[in-house]
Amino acid sequence: MAAMKALVKTQTGPGNLELRDVADPTPGPGEVVFRVGATGICGTDLHIQDDEYVVVPPVTIGHETAGTIVAIGAGVTGLSLGDRVTAQTTISTCGSCSFCASGLLNLCPQRRWLGGHVDGGFAGYVKVPVANILLLPPTVTIEAGALTEPLACCVHGIMEVIGMSKEGWHPPFTVVSGPGPIGLLCAQVARAAGSVVIILGTGADASRFALARQLGFEDLIDVTRENVTDVIRERTGGLGVDVAIEAAGAPSSLDGCLALVNRRGTVLQIGLYGRPAPVSVDVLVLKEITLRGTFSSTPSSWITAIDLMGSGQVDTLPLVTQVRPLEDWSAGFDSARAKGEGKIVLTPSER
Ligand SMILES: [Zn+2]
Ligand SMILES: [Zn+2]
Repeated sequence: MAAMKALVKTQTGPGNLELRDVADPTPGPGEVVFRVGATGICGTDLHIQDDEYVVVPPVTIGHETAGTIVAIGAGVTGLSLGDRVTAQTTISTCGSCSFCASGLLNLCPQRRWLGGHVDGGFAGYVKVPVANILLLPPTVTIEAGALTEPLACCVHGIMEVIGMSKEGWHPPFTVVSGPGPIGLLCAQVARAAGSVVIILGTGADASRFALARQLGFEDLIDVTRENVTDVIRERTGGLGVDVAIEAAGAPSSLDGCLALVNRRGTVLQIGLYGRPAPVSVDVLVLKEITLRGTFSSTPSSWITAIDLMGSGQVDTLPLVTQVRPLEDWSAGFDSARAKGEGKIVLTPSER
């Protein structure tokens, strides 16, 4: 049996990531195998490396993945070899809890996910159930398509958890704190939902601000140099903002969101800290702020994510600032950890 390289979390504990030779997957009935074209390095992968996020080793990690179908199992219809695809990350759930019943598969206590319980995308090939497969729109490259997963997470948070939509409710202004890949995806989703977006960053975010400009965002605030409250009041004509999205994963950013959002406003927390964070709870109380968490993605958010990419309302490709061979995973992880970058994707070598 042919073997491929795969980045495996070998056992629980800090580190324990290793590029191993593992057997190529073969599809069982109802399953599909695709050759990985690109898999993004996510903050969650760094938490897995640090043992701050529970997975079930030994498992190949990587959940932001896209590629080309190379094998189709028995009983699968409607897909062809060579189709360009990405894969939803929820592989299985209990199917009977209230969350499963309402389509919130992300919250099923028995959820098993790609790159955590089931072998994921930092590998030559990935096997998933056909129900997890989504076709990439013709205009979306494989590298751009690898970002469908983080985009679906942002769609879930913004459109499903706090309920913003172009036709329905949306605040006139939304703040996104943190111009990393997740922040710039959130910014595009909030804009697609009809809101004018103001992006906050620090002095270390110069290149990310340049990316934001490239994506058409003009209201960018360096919180280390400007008075955020004053600038927001000015940019919003005195309205302030009713929604702030914390996308930096830093306590100071969350505190900043609580400080700047209007009374009765909403702060959406996307992304993990890996540890407790000091937060100004009194501000939350005094302003009657709603603090919402959002976790992972739902099947419906994946469909919206594909639509947003296909219609050009969201462009994920400019966010990919490094493409590295899978063998370079360690340097790629270090780069992702250093921040300042956009999305770093790993590509397995062709064979
Ligand atoms: Zn992720
Ligand atoms: Zn369930």
